[in-house]
Amino acid sequence: MSKPIVAIVGRPNVGKSTLFNALAGENISIVKDTPGVTRDRIYADVEWLNYQFTLIDTGGIEPDSSDVILSQMREQAQIAIDTADVIIFMVDVRQGLIDADSKVADMLRRSRKPVVLAVNKADNYEKSLPDVYEFYNLGIGDPQPISAAGKQGLGDMLDVVVGYFTENGQEEREDDRPRIAVVGKPNVGKSSIINKLLGENRVIVSDIAGTTRDAIDTAITWGGREYVFIDTAGLRRKNKIKEELERYSIIRTVTAVDRADVVVVVIDAVEGVTEQDAKIAGIAHDRGKGILVVVNKWDAIEKDDKTVYKYTEKIRETLSFMPYAEIMFVSAQTGQRLAKLFDMIDMIVQNQSMRIATGVLNEILSEAVALQQPPSDKGKRLKLYYITQVSVKPPTFVIFVNDRALMHFSYTRYLENKIRDTFGFRGTPLKFIIRERK
Ligand code: GDP
Ligand code: GDP
Repeated sequence: MSKPIVAIVGRPNVGKSTLFNALAGENISIVKDTPGVTRDRIYADVEWLNYQFTLIDTGGIEPDSSDVILSQMREQAQIAIDTADVIIFMVDVRQGLIDADSKVADMLRRSRKPVVLAVNKADNYEKSLPDVYEFYNLGIGDPQPISAAGKQGLGDMLDVVVGYFTENGQEEREDDRPRIAVVGKPNVGKSSIINKLLGENRVIVSDIAGTTRDAIDTAITWGGREYVFIDTAGLRRKNKIKEELERYSIIRTVTAVDRADVVVVVIDAVEGVTEQDAKIAGIAHDRGKGILVVVNKWDAIEKDDKTVYKYTEKIRETLSFMPYAEIMFVSAQTGQRLAKLFDMIDMIVQNQSMRIATGVLNEILSEAVALQQPPSDKGKRLKLYYITQVSVKPPTFVIFVNDRALMHFSYTRYLENKIRDTFGFRGTPLKFIIRERK
């Protein structure tokens, strides 16, 4: 199921980055193992006890101009309110209660989102307690004294954070309709596509109140089947100013992708595929989602018999980490090929849930090993004992080997290709877990 989203909000220098790093540990990378994509500290996957959540730093405030800090904080808080399940509001015990904090606290309180008040830099717990109590005046609950730098109090604070999860989790509905997120840079035509689908679809439409987030999902019926498009309100309510901020665009993408089965990555044909498209697609790849690349505005470019080929080449090159993705060329304006979107989505949903019998997998494994000898190092050769599929969404395989260090990325890739040669798995990433068995 989709992971809860926790956002950190607070003035510059209260210690947001420090907390983010302390909680995220090694997991800070926007797209791990995804070549060609910049690492970025906007979100991270965090595990605490048995809980998993996505941590978001709404950051991005310029600390130098104090007169704009409040307006930027409001913007930041609004992003958190729009996207998060739980908000960590961070203040600094050394600076005490500041007017801007009170104003943002008012805003957060009105949103009725769960807010955890983290009072940072309480390095000396006993001594700082009287100052910590001052923050009761914010009227958003018990202050949690922490030291992000000293990694103190984090456990108690996280207990409060995850305490809000279970309630929210229960609101999550049992539902087997495919969930689709339409993502992409600003102005590529995401809302135009949604509007066209809504307009052409007579049987429609029920707005589904989202989870605890302010997202509104929309069900579209197509060919007698219902599809849930995630956060269509966010797409259609134009808030270009916020969308223009790359950080906000990424945060919106992460939160929508988390809840999706299939992610439609929209690219602008006029502009061509860019690194930012790769970054956005990388989020879906990283999270193991089904992926469909849709090149929009196909009406607006001049074409000859090589145009599709050229576009495909360029996209394969820029999105080289996801060769399995299907690519479609559409026009939201004319409606060209939009109906085919649903066929693609159906196929991808099926592939995301496909299970391969262990016997068949092991046949493929032994054939592959016979065709290409596994790598060796210092006289020791990799042995592959056994492969089995352990889960779906994405299809996940465990391979048992004699020595994990010998299992090169390239050999895993080779085996993946062998499996894909037989079963396709178009539109879905595959995950491989390598285990040792002596
Ligand atoms: P941000 O602007 O909110 O992301 O703040 P940073 O994480 O960059 O931290 C601002 C400053 O506060 C840095 O110099 C940190 O080293 C310092 N800092 C962060 N957490 C703590 C803490 O728990 N105790 C103390 N004494 N300093 C801290
Ligand atoms: P979003 O920001 O990704 O939701 O993009 P919009 O749907 O707002 O579209 C941005 C601009 O591209 C608008 O001016 C649209 O009219 C235009 N546009 C969207 N789809 C198409 C298309 O298929 N062909 C052409 N020529 N223009 C399009």
